[in-house]
Amino acid sequence: MPLVVRSDVGTTQRSKLTSRQRLSIWERARGICVLCEQPIDGVRERWIIEHIRALELGGSDEPDNMGPAHETCGRSKTRDDHRSAAKAKRQKIHHLGAAHSKRPMPCGRKSRWKKRLDGTIVPRE
Ligand SMILES: [Zn+2]
Repeated sequence: MPLVVRSDVGTTQRSKLTSRQRLSIWERARGICVLCEQPIDGVRERWIIEHIRALELGGSDEPDNMGPAHETCGRSKTRDDHRSAAKAKRQKIHHLGAAHSKRPMPCGRKSRWKKRLDGTIVPRE
């Protein structure tokens, strides 16, 4: 059994949309892409339901946070969202002091060794 159970604390749970929910989101946005604001040709173009504020950035999984988007527009937004979510995670780790250096400063507090005032290096108990 693993000692630490990994859990993604910042991500909102994602639920599956029904066809009717997808249609109502499309109708509410009148078929306009929420990212590039160009009309989507639902017959000829591939489109997705996009979370306007990404779930991993704390956005809600409610219809008012969703809108239709071209698949290509959604893909580039997803890439940017992943980038900023990773940055936010790094900042949070650093801010909370959860960061753990792989190479501690020689003879520093996190090191296995310590240096006495007389200059001798002894293992830290
Ligand atoms: Zn678009």
